[in-house]
Amino acid sequence: MSAKRSLTPDLASGACTDELLNAGSRWLDMSSESPRLDAELLLAHALDKPRSYLYQTLSAAVPAAAAERYAALLGERASHRPLAQIIGTREFWSLSLKVTTDTLVPRPETELLVEQALRRIPPDMPQAVADLGTGTGAVAIAIASERPRCRVLATDLSPAALAVARQNALALGLDNISFHSGDWFAALQGERLAVIVSNPPYIADDEWCETDPGLGFEPRLALSGGADGLADIRRIVSAAPAHLESGGWLLLEHGFRQAAAVQDLLRQAGFGSISTCADLAGQPRVSEGQWAT
Ligand code: GLN
Repeated sequence: MSAKRSLTPDLASGACTDELLNAGSRWLDMSSESPRLDAELLLAHALDKPRSYLYQTLSAAVPAAAAERYAALLGERASHRPLAQIIGTREFWSLSLKVTTDTLVPRPETELLVEQALRRIPPDMPQAVADLGTGTGAVAIAIASERPRCRVLATDLSPAALAVARQNALALGLDNISFHSGDWFAALQGERLAVIVSNPPYIADDEWCETDPGLGFEPRLALSGGADGLADIRRIVSAAPAHLESGGWLLLEHGFRQAAAVQDLLRQAGFGSISTCADLAGQPRVSEGQWAT
């Protein structure tokens, strides 16, 4: 994007849906990996209609007020603000979740953490499961919806994030999740869990320059894992045994370069049956270990 380019695109007044989508998609070409999809979601949001509505009205003129809102939304997206933050929602595990600037935007690769955790939670057992650093509640909510007999405990250090997670659980009618505020296990004093999952912050200080510019809009608290990115993972792994039942599992999402280090930490803490799974992009992304003593 050239520095001279204005913040919002000039959209011809009286333009139809199709023209606005084409113009929007061109406008976002440099700032998004999915410019057409983003343009569609932003125009649908400006119109307050579902995306499918656009295809029923491709040649209809878009009302001026909606076109203006759309131009402003395109401007925000062109500045790299994550789409989910602009429209305020994101789909995760086929559930619609509210997202704010206080929460990390749920990522598709985090669905792998849910998938792996579900392998360790039998469908018919009323177990206790914890999700540490829940953010929007994505992981806790997905597990709670798949395992209605389980009690899911979701924690976060940020009260604002926890409020969003609570709203998401309520909106989805889930009553098997409880919310606990605090720093990692400080939020779960006296609890013993069958399974602990977490997508903690894990970006290393020197990795910031290679990350997506959109990350600057998300809470640093949810992303930054200190000098080597492992500061929080280290704390979770070392404290987890005191909160796991015998035979319980700890599952962690981590950076694509961190699998060996996370496996070492698990081994040093006394975990067994340690393994790592790759995400859909083929990157080692989730490691697990069993507390078998
Ligand atoms: N997967 C995120 C990213 O690199 C990081 C999430 C996290 O730190 N937990 O964009």
